[in-house]
Amino acid sequence: MNLNGEKTIFEKIIDREVPAEIVEEDEHCILIRDINPCAPVHILIIPKKRVPRIAEAESDDEAMLGHLLFMAKKFAETHHLEQGFRLVINNGPHAQETVPHLHIHLIAGKWMAWPPC
Ligand code: 5GP
Repeated sequence: MNLNGEKTIFEKIIDREVPAEIVEEDEHCILIRDINPCAPVHILIIPKKRVPRIAEAESDDEAMLGHLLFMAKKFAETHHLEQGFRLVINNGPHAQETVPHLHIHLIAGKWMAWPPC
């Protein structure tokens, strides 16, 4: 939900109200290609549970959070990202969070700059 109590774009994608390129899905999460990729591989790992951002996760969410990371590891393995990949979570305005539904960016396929700030 966003601040107006409406579904976010990710909830609409999960509910199949908006199309997206879904690369994987299970009972806890969905993996989609970012609509505006910043690298050859740019995947969003999105929990089905409505958690606005990592700062608002609760102790009940601990297993789900671990699952999201494990999905990232499995994606990297099956897509042969041996050269490396980056996982990013933007939390809040300073971090440029734009969709208030928790998601992990999995970015790969090019040499990336560091630091990102
Ligand atoms: P944030 O800035 O919140 O960390 O990241 C939100 C991401 O969602 C952005 O990278 C943006 O390109 C992506 N995004 C926003 N709307 C859509 C959409 O409708 N479909 C897909 N596949 N990605 C989206």
